[in-house]
Amino acid sequence: MLEIQHLSKTYDDGTQALKDVSFHLEQGEFLVIIGLSGSGKSTLLRCINRLVDPTEGAILLDGEDVAAAEGNSLRNFRRRMGMIFQHFNLVKRSSVLTNVLSGRLGYVNPWKSLLHRFPKSDRDKAKSALERVGLEAQTHKRADELSGGQQQRVGIARALMQEPDLILADEPVASLDPVLAHSIMGYLEKLNKEENMTVLCSLHYLDLVQRYATRVIGLKDGKVVYNGTGEDIRKIT
Ligand code: ADP
Ligand code: ADP
Repeated sequence: MLEIQHLSKTYDDGTQALKDVSFHLEQGEFLVIIGLSGSGKSTLLRCINRLVDPTEGAILLDGEDVAAAEGNSLRNFRRRMGMIFQHFNLVKRSSVLTNVLSGRLGYVNPWKSLLHRFPKSDRDKAKSALERVGLEAQTHKRADELSGGQQQRVGIARALMQEPDLILADEPVASLDPVLAHSIMGYLEKLNKEENMTVLCSLHYLDLVQRYATRVIGLKDGKVVYNGTGEDIRKIT
């Protein structure tokens, strides 16, 4: 489904965040990217949906290159990917419903949703996404009235608005305590197993990796140093 070929990213200040990264992702996998802080996990996920432009390499989604896409073709790629962020990236003073609706416009700029009038079909879809994460009772609350775990469930509901076939989750549980972390990972697992969504998720807790990943990619200093099951993962740390 997704093939990353020789991907490199050098930021403007000269930081080489990714160095010749290659791997592939099959439909239906729950692939976890693990690595220390600064190893390039976030850059990798952001390159895949082009929140960050890669310096070199290809990102093939069903054979078509996302790295070279522009305009409508880039928008179409992004519609297939739902992004979930470590710090949730909600518009805190807006309602839960407005935040979820913003997923229809792409997660890149949730603030745009404040000015947008959404059709009833979108509002129905948003309500159904909130039901799927058990937040229907919070629909009209302000996002910042919710707990961290609930805010991340809003983040998941927002990602579902695009009906994505690929979920990109950038350390989705790093801001949460271990019990909430399992609850959020459980929602991702459900989307993977019951709704056939492919998941690419970065993490740094080993216990979570072994519990949820069907396969693991280890990153160190921007390079792939491991590609295999969760069992031998301790060797890379
Ligand atoms: P991780 O998600 O594993 O913590 P990141 O992808 O955030 O890793 O960072 C990889 C490296 O790139 C780090 O050295 C980080 O400081 C650097 N980096 C990340 N974003 C930027 C940026 N916008 N400009 C310059 N350097 C960056
Ligand atoms: P998160 O964990 O949510 O990715 P970070 O604190 O790692 O948050 O990064 C916040 C923002 O700062 C990101 O957009 C990232 O690209 C950028 N960033 C991270 N490291 C650097 C850096 N060394 N120089 C410039 N920007 C950076």
